[in-house]
Amino acid sequence: MREIALLVAVAVVVAMVAVYARTATLIGEGALGEARSYADLIVATRSWNAQHGGVWVVKGPGVETNPYLVAMGISADATTTDGRVLTLRNPAVMTREISSLLLRSDGATFHLVSLKPVNPAATPDLWERASLLAFDTGVTERWVSANTTTGPELRYMRPLVTDASCLVCHARQGYRAGDIRGAISVVIPLARQNSQAAINALILGLLGLAVTGVLLTITLTLVRRMRGELRKAQVALVEAATIDHLTRTSNRRHTLERLAEEIERARRTKEPLGLLMVDIDHFKDVNDELGHAAGDGVLSAVAQRITGATRPYDLVGRIGGEEFLVVAPNADLEGATSMAERARSQVSGATIEAGAHEATVTISLGVTLVDPDEAEALDRALARVDAALYASKGAGRDRVSVRLRDDTP
Ligand code: GH3
Ligand code: MG
Ligand code: MG
Repeated sequence: MREIALLVAVAVVVAMVAVYARTATLIGEGALGEARSYADLIVATRSWNAQHGGVWVVKGPGVETNPYLVAMGISADATTTDGRVLTLRNPAVMTREISSLLLRSDGATFHLVSLKPVNPAATPDLWERASLLAFDTGVTERWVSANTTTGPELRYMRPLVTDASCLVCHARQGYRAGDIRGAISVVIPLARQNSQAAINALILGLLGLAVTGVLLTITLTLVRRMRGELRKAQVALVEAATIDHLTRTSNRRHTLERLAEEIERARRTKEPLGLLMVDIDHFKDVNDELGHAAGDGVLSAVAQRITGATRPYDLVGRIGGEEFLVVAPNADLEGATSMAERARSQVSGATIEAGAHEATVTISLGVTLVDPDEAEALDRALARVDAALYASKGAGRDRVSVRLRDDTP
């Protein structure tokens, strides 16, 4: 029982850990997917900007001229014919400004880094530098999960490959089409995902407890029920092996086994052991007159009457067709004889009902005692009680005869 409970608990824990691990993987993959989407978006946005040679925006409050464009000799401000002042937004500035808007909304950030930065803000940190060097060797993306002072985060990088539209500005740095000019560096905060994973773990833990409880209840109930069934089957088996199904007395094999045990016990304890052998008189005639089925009923009723004449601890067994043996522990000659007489009078004086029929039968009995002082063989005791029974038959039936010694006629 304890092993089953342990097995169920271990199976549930393993299943729950597997589900948790899978969920954690999916959450991780989700964050990576998010980072890739941002990278796709930035590349597309930058490319759109570059294809149009930069985008002119109205130079309102807080909108500054990009000093790096000016430094590169690019005219970055213009005034329209209607007097509005515009300033040029190149891909790098646009990316940075969108990133700061995004940081305010969901915490994700991205920026550009380069091994040859024009703007010092594009200077890579250690991991970004290692990624930029890796991109030069053909690596197409890199990511890492890190714990920083601002919490757990996923860092993701993808190289920026120079195309014709980029060369308008970047040719002067010596870049050619196809060169890796820098990289997009995305940071996805993982605190939200991690708290989702923690809630998942809590839900899984509670679910695991509930499932374990239900499984244990079901398993233990089934095991208990099976044990009950097994016990019943064992009882039925023992009964089938020891009981005569027609008369419900012991069968021949069990009777002789018990007799051998009682002889051995009598030898040890020196207590007397009475033996009675019973045979129904002219039973063939009962069968002939009433039929075999009614004969069965009479046989069963006689067995009950013989049993009724014995004590609770005596053993009554059917050892032949209509022949019974009574093993009576601790019965002396007087006890065994009076028991035999009681059985005879209960059968002989009664009308026995067998289904629709009624019958009157008599029985003949033999009585002997097993000698506790001698190491007596079972066969000898049986032969002696058999001889006593046939003495009753010979003397006219419906009577009790006693034989105490093998040579007594
Ligand atoms: P007696 O013992 O007095 O000498 O005569 P009997 O007619 O009883 O003796 P016998 O041994 O000749 O016949 C025993 C009969 O018991 C034979 C058989 O038909 C019957 N018998 C044995 N077993 C069963 C049984 O299980 N059911 C029924 N109905 N009859 C049985
Ligand atoms: Mg008989
Ligand atoms: Mg017989």
